[in-house]
Amino acid sequence: MLVVEHIHEMQKWSEEQRLQGRRIVLVPTMGFLHQGHLSLIREGRKSGDRLVVSVFVNPTQFGPCEDIASYPSDFERDRGLLEREEVDIIFRPSSRAVYPEGYQTAVEVERLGRTLCGAYRPGHFRGVAVVVLKLFNIVQPHVAVFGLKDYQQFIIVSRLIEDLNLNINMVAVPIVRDPDGLAVSSRNYYLTQEERKAALCLQRALGRAENWVRQGERDGRKITNQVIAEITSEPLARVEYVQLCDLKSLEVIESLHDEALLALAVWFGKARLIDNIILKAEM
Ligand code: AMP
Repeated sequence: MLVVEHIHEMQKWSEEQRLQGRRIVLVPTMGFLHQGHLSLIREGRKSGDRLVVSVFVNPTQFGPCEDIASYPSDFERDRGLLEREEVDIIFRPSSRAVYPEGYQTAVEVERLGRTLCGAYRPGHFRGVAVVVLKLFNIVQPHVAVFGLKDYQQFIIVSRLIEDLNLNINMVAVPIVRDPDGLAVSSRNYYLTQEERKAALCLQRALGRAENWVRQGERDGRKITNQVIAEITSEPLARVEYVQLCDLKSLEVIESLHDEALLALAVWFGKARLIDNIILKAEM
């Protein structure tokens, strides 16, 4: 396994692999790897012959008051995990290399980037779009793997690929959860024991929503209000949003017809956790 830090070296390697007819798979991450990332890597392995995992905490997707300074990292641990997964390359550029002096180009997926998390993290998805496009240009993958825990990110990158005619296939990987139901996340590291226990209300509330729909509830507002009530019964939870929306446009849905995304962001202490579930009218 190679650890590549320089952009030109990464590009050269990818060009050589392409000339040899290899299919390159990219799994973008911000490091501090967990089972969710490993699931993406194992899924990615099936879609090509060379696997690149990028480890880059992208400064442009963090707001000025957000957690970039405290974002957890442990590169030696990540390296060990990736070696065991037989990854070919860890691409780990510096922020300076990705955003050199004079950098000024923006990439924006407009409407999709302003709803859900985008409404509370202005500029976040601009940062995501630019870094993903950069990684695509540097690594030149045939396939890119993303997790559905960041459902909005998945839709935005799909839109970017389509709108800019990028020749890349997206692979989506279902949410990986701890045995007690909490979606695994690097940010779970911020949780105290008490907050970790409190955060189980998210999975409980999403599960209840599924039950209400099974029992015939179709009213979007009622579903989201019930989810909010369930979460706020947990005193350590601070709800940022709970929304029922269309699977593709991410626009709010008044009434559930076939399928919809129920997405949420909730704070527990210093940790902002996101989770989601797809609700189906016919379950
Ligand atoms: P991050 O390192 O948090 O930027 O995440 C890198 C990739 O891993 C993204 O595509 C995430 O959606 C995905 N990911 C993170 N947590 C999970 C999870 N619990 N299940 C599935 N994918 C995940």
